[in-house]
Amino acid sequence: MILVIKNGTVITMNEKRKEKYEKLDIVITDDTITSVEENYQGPYDKIIDASNKIVLPGLINCHTHLGMSIFRATNDNLTLQDWLHKKIWPIESLMTDEDIYYTTLLSCLEMIKTGTTTSNDMYFGINGSLKAIKETKIRSVFSRFLIGNMDPSSLEKIEEFRNLVIENQGNDLLTFTVTPHSLYTCNQEYLEKCQEIASEFNLPIHIHYCENLSEVEEIKKNYHKLPAEVLQELGYFKQKLILAHGTFISEEEQELLSKFDVSIVTNPVSNLNLGCGIADLVSYQKNGINVCLGTDGQGSGNNLNMFYHMSLVDQLQKAKYQDPTVMQSYDVLKMATINGAKALNLDHKIGSIEEGKKADLVILDLNSTEIYPTIDLINQVVHNVESNNVDTTIINGQILMKNHQFSFEIDESELVKNIDRITSHLMSEKK
Ligand SMILES: [Zn+2]
Repeated sequence: MILVIKNGTVITMNEKRKEKYEKLDIVITDDTITSVEENYQGPYDKIIDASNKIVLPGLINCHTHLGMSIFRATNDNLTLQDWLHKKIWPIESLMTDEDIYYTTLLSCLEMIKTGTTTSNDMYFGINGSLKAIKETKIRSVFSRFLIGNMDPSSLEKIEEFRNLVIENQGNDLLTFTVTPHSLYTCNQEYLEKCQEIASEFNLPIHIHYCENLSEVEEIKKNYHKLPAEVLQELGYFKQKLILAHGTFISEEEQELLSKFDVSIVTNPVSNLNLGCGIADLVSYQKNGINVCLGTDGQGSGNNLNMFYHMSLVDQLQKAKYQDPTVMQSYDVLKMATINGAKALNLDHKIGSIEEGKKADLVILDLNSTEIYPTIDLINQVVHNVESNNVDTTIINGQILMKNHQFSFEIDESELVKNIDRITSHLMSEKK
């Protein structure tokens, strides 16, 4: 099956091309981009006319918890630790796999509608979430989050993860990371167990890291070491490492991290909502650390719309440095595409529009008066795109949404009813 996207203005994110965007046709054969060229005249089975539209690589959300959609905006006036202990964990302990199927399904629809084609997810209730991910055919870097202190239930979680990986080999849309929750919610022995399983399957480790200052102090107190030195002692640098948040990383630690295959996923909205702080991304990048972008769950991050989160990243760095020259919109777009692909070990497959890569693409229609006109395209994409500008979303060559309509069967009103039922049930149980 040959699909051609014709006449679009294509932001390829391919560093080998001279121009940041060009009028190009994209030829997709089954799941793969087979040609990116001017005025394609070859055969095709299906064509999408992208005249006056923008085509860019699907966005990559490098840190989220898809099952958390029912906690959307529940963090008002709470610190990270209070929010987790008082609002989140008591309710999560009541959630069933079926609940998590629906909450994840809601997140998957949100991602498709807002142009995200890959998520790096960390949650529990994996039978439910995996069902939703498979049904919506989104690309997923998936996991079962691991938390505990070597007690039987925490060890069971590792076994559950092991079975998950073994049972889901060979799915082109699914890869895995090992996800210990954080250095402060797991003891040393358990964190070492997590490293062992990562090494056994040669998987990246994805962990919450230095999200706020009290977490950093707690780690220093427990280990009498800097957090980055703790990672080293645990053997985590032997794996590809994805550090979520990394809001507070000293210059000395940045130097250490830069020597290894480490990526930092910044989650600006979550960090602002929970009053954590502003990560010094300019410094991380100067030190050669790969920086990518995440939304966190909707509980702290409000939504999974990466366009909204992109805009903030850019503005926060400029405000932090009181200097508008420290970051460019293109750097931010890299964080949401190719840098994310590198972090997830998927840059050979996704993150840019080029021959040989999988066809994960988004088509934007910027012809709406509230954001008209588009003079500086990259700046416009990073700062002004709303979900209603996302016209088409394609993952692995499959059109999941076209002209704002899902191309798979989904009863959204039924889903909303289920979410309402789950929410009212869980909230009343908690009381
Ligand atoms: Zn998180």
